[in-house]
Amino acid sequence: MAKKQFAVIGMGRFGSSVAKALSNLGFEVLAIDANEQRTQEVANMVTHAVSADTTDEDALRALGIRNFDVVVVAIGADIQASILTTLILKDLGVPKLIVKAQSELHGKVLSKIGADKVIYPERDMGLRVAHHLISPNILDFIELSDDYSIVEMRAPDQAIGKNLKQLDIRAKYKCNVLAIKTDNHMNISPYADDIIKENDVLVIVGKNQDLKNLEIIYA
Ligand code: ADP
Repeated sequence: MAKKQFAVIGMGRFGSSVAKALSNLGFEVLAIDANEQRTQEVANMVTHAVSADTTDEDALRALGIRNFDVVVVAIGADIQASILTTLILKDLGVPKLIVKAQSELHGKVLSKIGADKVIYPERDMGLRVAHHLISPNILDFIELSDDYSIVEMRAPDQAIGKNLKQLDIRAKYKCNVLAIKTDNHMNISPYADDIIKENDVLVIVGKNQDLKNLEIIYA
């Protein structure tokens, strides 16, 4: 099967980071920015880098943008350019369109005009940092929906040496332990008698409120 081809529009901090990461993972990446200097800065880290104003439909057409499997729009501050670019890409028939939003309202507009996925990097990172600050045991926090999330938590002292049955997280906090990470080994769907060791990391899914209760107890 042919490797997916990506185009990333907007070589700001976020867009250039996505483009470089995809490229490092071995994918073909076309990087686009209206600003020539920005394009130059990433030129030797991606497959192709071009300068173009993506609110210009002809320019996008000329780049053959519809032949890319996924297009990421990472235009930040210029909301009008972000919306116009998304609209044109959708019209041109891009198969998968992922767009960065500045605010909830911006995100709503992007969804309405056909973005397949809207991302909020600043908001999501802020949320993660906040959870880590509340409880240093929280290593990561991923929002699955408005109601449910996954947390990655360093095994708290009171859990070490106990098994999942003794901890009884499901009954006490209505949360489920999806996995236990020990060094580089991942124990997926752990058994009730699996024992938590020092430095283990627990991956737990649950309702936001239930996870919050768990975080407070295990802080
Ligand atoms: P970040 O917050 O991720 O750094 P920025 O808003 O600073 O994002 O960067 C967005 C990038 O998008 C800038 O490099 C800018 O030149 C580019 N950009 C803005 N409008 C357009 C456009 N119409 N066409 C192509 N690139 C654009």
